[in-house]
Amino acid sequence: MYGIPEFRLPKTIVQQEIEGLKEMGVEIECNTVIGRSQTVDELFEEGYEAVFIGSGAGLPNFMNLSGENLKGVYSANEFLTRCNLMKAYQKGGDTPLQRAKRAVIVGGGNVAMDAARCAKRLGVGHVYIVYRRSMEELPARKEEVEHAMEEGIEFLLLRNPIRVLGNEEGWIRGVECVEMELGEPDESGRCRPVEKNGSNFVLEADCMIMAIGTSPNPLIRSTTEGLETNRKGCLVCDEQGRTTREGVFAGGDAVSGAATVILAMGAGKTAAKAIDEYIKNKQ
Ligand SMILES: Cc1cc2nc3c(=O)[nH]c(=O)nc-3n(C[C@H](O)[C@H](O)[C@H](O)COP(=O)(O)OP(=O)(O)OC[C@H]3O[C@@H](n4cnc5c(N)ncnc54)[C@H](O)[C@@H]3O)c2cc1C
Repeated sequence: MYGIPEFRLPKTIVQQEIEGLKEMGVEIECNTVIGRSQTVDELFEEGYEAVFIGSGAGLPNFMNLSGENLKGVYSANEFLTRCNLMKAYQKGGDTPLQRAKRAVIVGGGNVAMDAARCAKRLGVGHVYIVYRRSMEELPARKEEVEHAMEEGIEFLLLRNPIRVLGNEEGWIRGVECVEMELGEPDESGRCRPVEKNGSNFVLEADCMIMAIGTSPNPLIRSTTEGLETNRKGCLVCDEQGRTTREGVFAGGDAVSGAATVILAMGAGKTAAKAIDEYIKNKQ
């Protein structure tokens, strides 16, 4: 609901799914943050016999560039939440969103395409996608790229931002970038982008949106004893979704890192079966 825009996934479809769950007897507690309002241990104390963690990977990554904290620089999550969930596009929406003239979106995934197309719809005059590899490695779905191009988004491939430039009032005024070339494959198997010396150039911009991936939020793992995570902060599970803590199961982006809806749904179903078996065996 917060991220994928209405023009790609209408909220009514998501709402139908939610209503279906409610009809099956699922109770939904809104405004409850596990690890703050209540801990996993407190859920067990209340009498729950198993807990499933499907908390996603909503913590945005940044590049730690100089000037990244200037006004007008957003994570894609913040930008999309303000736009989609808090309806910044309409008068009287719950949050303001600055009307920019030129926006630079950094990244090449579906989230970058969504941020670019939302920026365009919000009336941004010129929208650039800056991606450090070539079109061949760009991870967004092909249709999303085609749609973005049709809508006039300009793709600056083999380019990488190195510094955000600001004005005296602390607002972004441009992004210094460098050209890149592809070198040897890295551990992911994709060609490593290498900076071309002396290729620096400045893109004038009054908005920058970082869409370079997200990680799982550390809140639940840091407030729950015995939950092992890997070096990326993802929960460690077996194939049935059992974590390293008895009675605690997990799945989706919190385990795999940012992935897809279908994989998260599959993981939920697998874990549901394992939870059912776990509770029956306990009894
Ligand atoms: C902009 C955007 C575009 C995308 N496009 C696509 C696409 O085209 N196709 C595709 O398949 N996938 C796409 N994805 C990815 C897809 O949305 C995710 O892979 C999927 O939603 C993961 O499901 P999940 O249930 O693991 O986590 P999420 O859907 O992220 O749900 C996690 C939920 O847990 C809540 N939560 C987090 N921490 C806590 C806590 N401590 N206590 C209580 N609640 C908590 C969060 O608020 C959130 O509501 C996109 C994602 C984004 C952001």
